[in-house]
Amino acid sequence: MVATTEEVLELHGRVRECTACPLHLTRIQAVPGYGPATARVMAVGEAPGENEDREGKPFVGAAGRLLTSLLESVGLDRRDIYITNIVKCRPPRNRDPEPLEVEACSHYLDEQIELLQPDVILLLGRHALQRLLPGAGGISTLHGERVRRDDRVYVPLFHPAAALYNGGLKDTLEADMRRVRRYLADAEATRARRAGGASASDLRKVAAAPGGDQMDLF
Ligand code: URA
Ligand code: SF4
Repeated sequence: MVATTEEVLELHGRVRECTACPLHLTRIQAVPGYGPATARVMAVGEAPGENEDREGKPFVGAAGRLLTSLLESVGLDRRDIYITNIVKCRPPRNRDPEPLEVEACSHYLDEQIELLQPDVILLLGRHALQRLLPGAGGISTLHGERVRRDDRVYVPLFHPAAALYNGGLKDTLEADMRRVRRYLADAEATRARRAGGASASDLRKVAAAPGGDQMDLF
């Protein structure tokens, strides 16, 4: 089942109105996520920062520009990727999200993954890694690895913001991104093989699913 744009927008609407944790008191606006409902790649960061809080979209500041160029360096277009964060509202002064805030917010991320069923989930930084792959290990050993859990494929990566201050990490991120490209090719091959077993009418339904265009989800 491919998610529809309507389903994703309905979720975004609930996030924008959410008051389930104290971060709603200090935000300008919540940042639910951005990208097409049909995205095969999802990227998960930590939390919105100042620019994101102002614009209502994830990864629009300097770290976001680096993320865009990293994706482009391996031929991926950011507009094909669904981008979100562990918590949807900016923590004051960009402090780390508190465990209770992560707890209150993370069902939205679970719903996003359930809806989009991405082929690959990029975990940007240790917060995303800890939340989605608890107990798997640290970012410095797992970065660039393909981790399968519960029928999902995750790739932990260093957070692009960290690479803004450490040029060496940027090279590592670029190398890891090249690995991501290969994982995607594998996932596409697997999907094509599975689709080969589906009936022609199933395939037509998927092809005709709404949200298959570059619809703006903001
Ligand atoms: N850093 C994040 O983790 N998320 C954003 O949306 C922007 C910067
Ligand atoms: Fe709701 Fe998440 Fe924002 Fe907290 S951070 S108010 S749980 S959307």
